[in-house]
Amino acid sequence: MSRLVAVSNRVADPRNAAAGGLAVALGETLNATGGLWFGWSGRVVETAQGGTPGEGELHLQHAGDVTLATVDLSREDHDAYYLGYSNGVLWPVFHYRVDLADFDAGHLNVYRRVNQLFARKLAPLLRPDDMIWIHDYHLIPLAAELRAMGCGQRIGFFLHIPLPPPPILTTIPQHEWLMRALFAYDLIGFQSQADLEHFARYAQSEAGAEPMGDHRYRAFHRTVRAQAFPIGIDVDEFVSLGKGHEAQETYEMMMAQYARRRLLLGVDRMDYSKGLPERLKAFQALLAQYPENRSSATLIQIAAPSRESVDAYADLRRQLEGMSGAINGEYGELDWMPIRYIHRTTSRRRLPGLCRAARVALVTPLRDGMNLVAKEYIAAQDPDDPGVLVLSRFAGAAEQLKEALLVNPYDIQGTAQAIQQALHMPLAERQSRHQKLLENIRAQDVHWWSREYLRSLAESDQG
Ligand code: ADP
Repeated sequence: MSRLVAVSNRVADPRNAAAGGLAVALGETLNATGGLWFGWSGRVVETAQGGTPGEGELHLQHAGDVTLATVDLSREDHDAYYLGYSNGVLWPVFHYRVDLADFDAGHLNVYRRVNQLFARKLAPLLRPDDMIWIHDYHLIPLAAELRAMGCGQRIGFFLHIPLPPPPILTTIPQHEWLMRALFAYDLIGFQSQADLEHFARYAQSEAGAEPMGDHRYRAFHRTVRAQAFPIGIDVDEFVSLGKGHEAQETYEMMMAQYARRRLLLGVDRMDYSKGLPERLKAFQALLAQYPENRSSATLIQIAAPSRESVDAYADLRRQLEGMSGAINGEYGELDWMPIRYIHRTTSRRRLPGLCRAARVALVTPLRDGMNLVAKEYIAAQDPDDPGVLVLSRFAGAAEQLKEALLVNPYDIQGTAQAIQQALHMPLAERQSRHQKLLENIRAQDVHWWSREYLRSLAESDQG
């Protein structure tokens, strides 16, 4: 088996399960092949006058058999590459929020420069038969830069966020350059069939690509394979976290506090793609239209701080604080508050307990590549008495999780009705839906995802 070289914006120690899904997914193959994981160190070095000392410095570290190679960035590069272009242009447009994109700021040059820097640092570490797997929207042009330096290895890309259809994608002034860069890969992985169809439509209508069968498209003098690989979670790991002391304690505390009430749960990064204001409005509509839920249903909404230096995120925070205060003011009682809004990250070890205690989970993004919280909620349930997942049809996960209650999060009344249905769903129906959902997330877990992707990359023709 070839050595795996993984590249992502952030690098984690794969021995640390708490480092998250990607570390778990890649850790197995990285370990088995004595692999290399390359990316930004997470460190920003201040630019000194007349130069950028420290920028681009390569740090090598060993984590068992895996080598971690990371590069520092200067403040200017970080701000323009990460905040400016990746999160100020690509993130909003790829999540269909053209209105929030800042096309004029001129960050593209730095986005490109940082990708060139990464290519220069990575290329000398590569061996001829390495298999390279590059992750996410920060690094779209990295393969093209590596190719320009003469790298002929198999290179795959996985887009963790959605790919919008051509009328939205083409609002990015540099869309052709970005899509041409994608054709430098041998395999492009998407989260959903919908994303894959958008790619195929773009390739055919804008780049004149011909589908060549076997998932292959030819354009810009290269042939690329494109497929959907929905990412999963490590179900066993989440289930075993749920048996741990902290999860149990959280579950018992929640059950004691909410014995007479029904708990609804939302757990998200604070991001405008997650549909949080719409979710609060739907919950408000539930209280207005189904008064039996007053003094009873409680929504715990946890929103972890994220990208706070980007304006749209700071605006969202103020909006959510205002809305939850207004709803609590309108409906709250001396002994009951409808919304508990928490602007913090919850410990991962407590999360399964919280999920298990919640009768209903509200996973209602306006747009999401996949959404792993939906899968974590299913994994955490008691199969004998499971809760109900209310899931946005605009999350990539909706293609797989058909037995959830699928909603259109823009339809506030419709979402309120679905929440009401979830709160009153009979046990037998909850059990049968949960059983199918659990089978699904087990069959396509995170290990399946990386195996399938790497198998396809190994099989794909080069160029
Ligand atoms: P995204 O990658 O856009 O943040 P996902 O749902 O795909 O969304 O993945 C989020 C991951 O981060 C999940 O594993 C989830 O448990 C975790 N997470 C999200 N919000 C929180 C939070 N408020 N506290 C703790 N963990 C969180």
